[in-house]
Amino acid sequence: MLWGTVEGEAGAPPANLTVAAIDGHPFGAIAFTGERWALPEVRLVAPILPSKVVCIGKNYADHAREMGGEAPPSPVIFLKPSTAVTGPGDPIRLPPSDRVDHEAELAVVIGAPARDVPPEQAMRHVLGYTCGNDVTARDQQRADVQFTRGKGHDSFCPLGPWIETAIDASDVRVTARVNGDLRQDGRTSQMIHDVPALISFMSHVMTLLPGDVIMTGTPAGVGPIVAGDTVTVEIEGIGALSNPVVAK
Ligand code: MG
Repeated sequence: MLWGTVEGEAGAPPANLTVAAIDGHPFGAIAFTGERWALPEVRLVAPILPSKVVCIGKNYADHAREMGGEAPPSPVIFLKPSTAVTGPGDPIRLPPSDRVDHEAELAVVIGAPARDVPPEQAMRHVLGYTCGNDVTARDQQRADVQFTRGKGHDSFCPLGPWIETAIDASDVRVTARVNGDLRQDGRTSQMIHDVPALISFMSHVMTLLPGDVIMTGTPAGVGPIVAGDTVTVEIEGIGALSNPVVAK
């Protein structure tokens, strides 16, 4: 397993994209090994294994309303364990639950340590963005009145397909499709707390380390997934993350 950069025109078919192997890791100055493959010859895994995944609840007003309330005045944050992370094409494994939901989210990948960072300096700490799915066992979340069990199952944090390092993600479309049917359709500009505000707020609580992931909240339209489904999170300018759903 190794790091690589995906090269080619954004949005081009996979056969027109290539992967160039990175010597070492993608933080700081990058050196290449000279090895190169066509993208279809490469199996992509989760693009990062974070030390922590920091999430925000109710960061889109229309999602807060569908959950039966208003968004809280200051960000409510929680953690998903790194063991929940899984990659493109990997199965989401459903535990016994009455309802497991998809939540399409812009995922921010931290590139440099961030502690007590003011919003105006926050973007210096961003490596890039990927697609995230904050999979949630809604019945367990409600029963526990907190998020650890309902959002912490293995495979409940699909990330991918790669880290896009060259976009402005402040106003891009975020969708979720289940078996091709559009379920969520929002824009990152609808966030109540934007990416710099989230990084600043979280970094005043806990140091964000290179590779850590911030899940920025989900737009309206969350809904159940069941075994046999395929759920696809797509973000404009980044790509698409598809995962089959299976019973555990
Ligand atoms: Mg969420």
